[in-house]
Formats: sequence, structure tokens, C-alpha cells
Amino acid sequence: MPKAAHQEDIVIVGAGCNFSAISGRDKNALRWDKLGYAHLLKLASQEGAKSFVRRTPSIEYWDDEVPHEKIQDMAEYLEDFRVIPKDQLPSGVKFGVSFTTLTVNAPCHLEYLYQVLLQYGVRFLRKKISAIGDAFANPKTKVVFNCIGNAARHLTGVEDTECYPTRGQVLLARAPNVRTNMMRHGRDYETYIIPRPESNGNVILGGYMQKGNGDSATYSHETESIKKRTRALSPELSAKNFEILAAVAGLRPSRNGGARIERTTVNVNGEPRAAVHNYGTGGTGFQAGYGMAIEAVATVDDILQKWSAEPITAKI
Ligand SMILES: Cc1cc2nc3c(=O)[nH]c(=O)nc-3n(C[C@H](O)[C@H](O)[C@H](O)COP(=O)(O)OP(=O)(O)OC[C@H]3O[C@@H](n4cnc5c(N)ncnc54)[C@H](O)[C@@H]3O)c2cc1C
Repeated sequence: MPKAAHQEDIVIVGAGCNFSAISGRDKNALRWDKLGYAHLLKLASQEGAKSFVRRTPSIEYWDDEVPHEKIQDMAEYLEDFRVIPKDQLPSGVKFGVSFTTLTVNAPCHLEYLYQVLLQYGVRFLRKKISAIGDAFANPKTKVVFNCIGNAARHLTGVEDTECYPTRGQVLLARAPNVRTNMMRHGRDYETYIIPRPESNGNVILGGYMQKGNGDSATYSHETESIKKRTRALSPELSAKNFEILAAVAGLRPSRNGGARIERTTVNVNGEPRAAVHNYGTGGTGFQAGYGMAIEAVATVDDILQKWSAEPITAKI
């Protein structure tokens, strides 16, 4: 269950988190990003403080391997998008852009979403299942949305061998003068500084993208590397001393071929039941999750239409 609002608990939420060009280049990822950006923008405009989502100036640099087609697509909807002139790029950087991004205080945003869902009458039940069929224990369950992240690899009835963890270590730091989201995508490193909205000046410093690494321990040599790289990247960070509050490692639920949004049929006691898979979003669950959810729900539109026509007593 989510913790109380304003609590800086990145033990359960390692995500930075921001909207960035880090996501996949395929058509699905581009579509989910666009939907996610519009959604987060709306939240920031309409209830930014309440939802812990904020418009934030952002700079992204690439040392090489610039995803030009993807950037061209994003340039059409990102606010204040601009390619940074070559003579303004730091040494070793091949390409850079600036735009207005959305930063999210991940733990507090989850608490916000939890409260919104409570208002809609959603009931929460925490239970570990060992097979997808277990999720249909209640015979009145019409549809199961399987949002199980990394566990999709081993859950009986799913066993998706394309899933793998991508480890990242981040630091929670106090640096109130940081206002800009910054990222540098290197060939074998990923460095970022993400200011956390409504947190009294906290920032997330990262990081790592270790494909296939499922180790959730933290390492002091990685902490030192993050401090050094982020200081070198952000003038706002290097200007003053900053206090490290915590080091956390998290595992992004990655998947070869991108996230899986797919309706399938599960046989439960001889009866066909609908399960919608929605997992494998890797390092983009916050920026792309809204778009993914819209499409996952759309796959069972026929069932939902029928269900909403039923009398309320038949649903409980
Ligand atoms: C270091 C780091 C930085 C990140 N930065 C960003 C960022 O800047 N922007 C961004 O958009 N994203 C970011 N992410 C990625 C983001 O955190 C993930 O994409 C997102 O959390 C995935 O959400 P999910 O709900 O799909 O999966 P998860 O968060 O993995 O949730 C899966 C859920 O399934 C439950 N579960 C597993 N097995 C079972 C079972 N057998 N029975 C019942 N329940 C089960 C788990 O308990 C968990 O609650 C970052 C991640 C990391 C680690």
C-alpha cells in the first residue's frame, strides 16, 4: 500500500522520475509517450501540487547514437522544443535538445493516484499469486489486468522469457538550487539529475542502466561515480555542496520488443476468461504508463460495455 504523502520513501519507488527520450523507438513507444506527455502536462496544469507533477526545463545530451527519428517525432509535441547549437554543447556531446519536461515525485504521485482511485470506489487487496489463473479466484471477476512487471518471467501461465530486469542505482539528494532536469546518454553510461516536485528541494541523481542485472543492493563505488558524473553535468549542482540522503537500487521491468499490451484468454476451471497483459515498460512506466493503460482497457471494451449495462447488485 502506498505510504503517506510527502514521505520520501524511494525504497519502494526508485524512479526519478521524469519524461525523457530514453524510451523505445518503435511505434508503440512513440504513441504511449505522446499520450503520457499530454496526460502529465494536464495534471501539472490543473493540479500540479496535488498530483506532484511539475513542468520543468530539461536538457538532454547524447554522446553518440542519437535517436534522430524519435526526436523528430517528439519535437512535434514537446513544449519549447529546441535543438541546442553545436557550439553550445559540452565536450564529448554530439547532439543536444532542450524542452519543457514533466518531473514527478514518484512516491507522492503514487499516493495521489491511490487516493483518486479510492474516490472512484476502487478496493485494494494485496495478495501474492503464483499463477495468472489465481487472479480469477472470485467467480464474478470479469477481466484481469496483469501488471506484474518483472514477475511476468516466472508467473505460471505467463512465463514470458522476453522479460528481464535493468538495474539502476540512484541517489536521493538535497539540492534546492537545482531547477533543471538534465540527462546525458553515453555509450556505456547514463547520467541524470531530476528535481523532485513538492519535496523541499530534493533531487534524484543517477544513474545506471544495467541490462539483465537483478541485483537490488547498492554500491559505494556507484554512489561515487554518480556524484562525480552529475556534478560534471549540472552547473546548478556543481555550484553548491549537496547532501546525499539515500542510495537506492531499483530494477526496471524491461522486455525485449517493448512492453506487452495484449488481451488473452485464460482457461479457469474449463471456462475461458479475459486477461489483459500490461507489463514490460522498463524505465518508462511513469511517462508511458497512462498511454499503455488506455490501450489495455480498450482491448476489453466489449466486456466493459456489457458490464456497465448490468445492475449494480450483479457486480459485487
Ligand atoms: C532507477 C530507476 C529509475 C527510473 N526512472 C524513471 C523515470 O524517470 N521515468 C519513468 O517513467 N520511469 C522510470 N522508471 C521506471 C518505472 O519505475 C517503472 O517503469 C514502473 O515502476 C513500472 O511499473 P509497473 O507497475 O509496470 O511494474 P512494477 O512497478 O514492477 O509493479 C509490479 C507489481 O506487481 C507486483 N507483483 C509481482 N509479482 C506478483 C505476484 N506473484 N502476485 C501479486 N503481485 C505481484 C509487485 O509487487 C509490484 O507491485 C525508473 C525505474 C528505476 C528502477
